[in-house]
Amino acid sequence: MARARAGGRSGIGRCCPATMIVCVPQCLFCGIAAGDIPATKVADGERTLAFRDISPQAPVHVLVIPRDHYPNVAALVAAGDAGKGLLDELIAVAHKVAAAEGIEGSGYRVVFNTGPNAGQSVEHVHAHVLGGRPMTWPPG
Ligand code: 5GP
Ligand code: ZN
Repeated sequence: MARARAGGRSGIGRCCPATMIVCVPQCLFCGIAAGDIPATKVADGERTLAFRDISPQAPVHVLVIPRDHYPNVAALVAAGDAGKGLLDELIAVAHKVAAAEGIEGSGYRVVFNTGPNAGQSVEHVHAHVLGGRPMTWPPG
């Protein structure tokens, strides 16, 4: 079966190899991953992308996403081995971003909002990397 994958970063027809979920045209973060929607990138990898949040909630607020479309972290886990590898990579990139932003020592938070009660507003899985100020717990 031919995959609807264009290759490269055009975004048209790109799909997740594990789930065969085709890039969702109306998905904001698929648009950013494809380069169709501008974002301030801080790390640009083969399978992942990190860019600054448009509405930062801390001096450092970066989002780390897979280039392939998974609606949330639950879908990524449900994708099996491929998803787990990608989850590892998202965390590794989050850590690298924190180090590059100079907040490794002061501390930072990595958050995957998942579902309505967590306040997930963009249904393309993403890790928030937040730091540069003291943060309270529990979160609001
Ligand atoms: P969520 O609420 O789903 O956990 O996080 C989505 C995040 O995406 C929010 O922090 C929001 O500020 C950010 N966001 C929404 N639209 C855009 C955009 O067009 N560009 C960027 N860089 N971030 C966005
Ligand atoms: Zn998407």
